[in-house]
Amino acid sequence: MTSGNNTSKHYPCPPFVEQPQQMPGLASEMKPIPDHGETSYIGSGKLAGKKALITGGDSGIGRAVAIAYAREGADVAIGYLPEEESDAAAVIALIQAEGRKAVAIPGDIRVESFCDTLVERAVSELGGLDILVNNAGRQQYCESIEELTTAAFDATFKTNVYAPFWITRAALRHLSEGAAIINTSSVQAFKPSEILLDYAQTKACNVAFTKSLAKQLGPKGIRVNAVAPGPYWTPLQSSGGQPQEKVQQFGADTPLGRPGQPVEIAPLYVLLASDSSSYASGQVWCSDGGTGVA
Ligand code: NAD
Ligand code: MG
Repeated sequence: MTSGNNTSKHYPCPPFVEQPQQMPGLASEMKPIPDHGETSYIGSGKLAGKKALITGGDSGIGRAVAIAYAREGADVAIGYLPEEESDAAAVIALIQAEGRKAVAIPGDIRVESFCDTLVERAVSELGGLDILVNNAGRQQYCESIEELTTAAFDATFKTNVYAPFWITRAALRHLSEGAAIINTSSVQAFKPSEILLDYAQTKACNVAFTKSLAKQLGPKGIRVNAVAPGPYWTPLQSSGGQPQEKVQQFGADTPLGRPGQPVEIAPLYVLLASDSSSYASGQVWCSDGGTGVA
């Protein structure tokens, strides 16, 4: 790992060391540890008094969003898998350090009844809901369609497509005018890799879901947007999201020559959740190091 000098700050650049993990992977096991804004994100009250639920808020992009939202004045509930408890505990402590309410809700969003429970717990423990971030995701690469099992295909669609539908449907009766829904899609929706056949399809689904729902909820004053990240340095990639040789070169093929750190995409989620972007809805917002695919 070397230090990049292609932007005003120095961020880690490839090559990275080999670092296989079991799915879902832990941020604490990554080399280097991603920057989720723990010491670098500075808030300014943009989300003061709001209440947010973020799925996959334990690590990666979701963790960066959770830290940023808390520093902007929001109370935050995070969903995650039980095996990610140590990553989640670190996020909960950071939210509490801001004097905000933090709610930890472990469970598997591939199960419809848990999605209902997730929303009900978030609403009752936060005392309402203003912002929903559908961010949890499953990405497991597979070289050939002939090797892609129905179980794997199903798990990717359950996590990335069914769960945002179930969670959003359950959340809707708690959301009122001014609320915001943000879905994490991917550049894979527009430029699918050959080894991400199932994943890329789900990320295209996230785009259509966002655009359709924005039309449905506009008359209620609820905005719906999607964020499409390019390569970001998170455990999703090293725990089977990419072959290890691609992890070692992750982000090298972007104009900035490196992967994004999760903290670098958090401001987009803050903006889309805040009242200042009150006319932005039904759109996909890309942050991909300069490739410009969306
Ligand atoms: P991540 O591994 O840190 O976060 C994904 C989270 O999803 C996990 O922490 C886990 O808590 C959650 N999750 C997965 N399966 C779950 C299940 N069955 N039940 C409950 N929670 C579950 O990785 P990340 O890269 O920050 O991923 C966040 C989102 O960003 C995903 O939707 C991913 O598709 C998207 N994305 C990431 C990249 C990237 O390069 N990292 C690029 C484009 C899009
Ligand atoms: Mg995680």
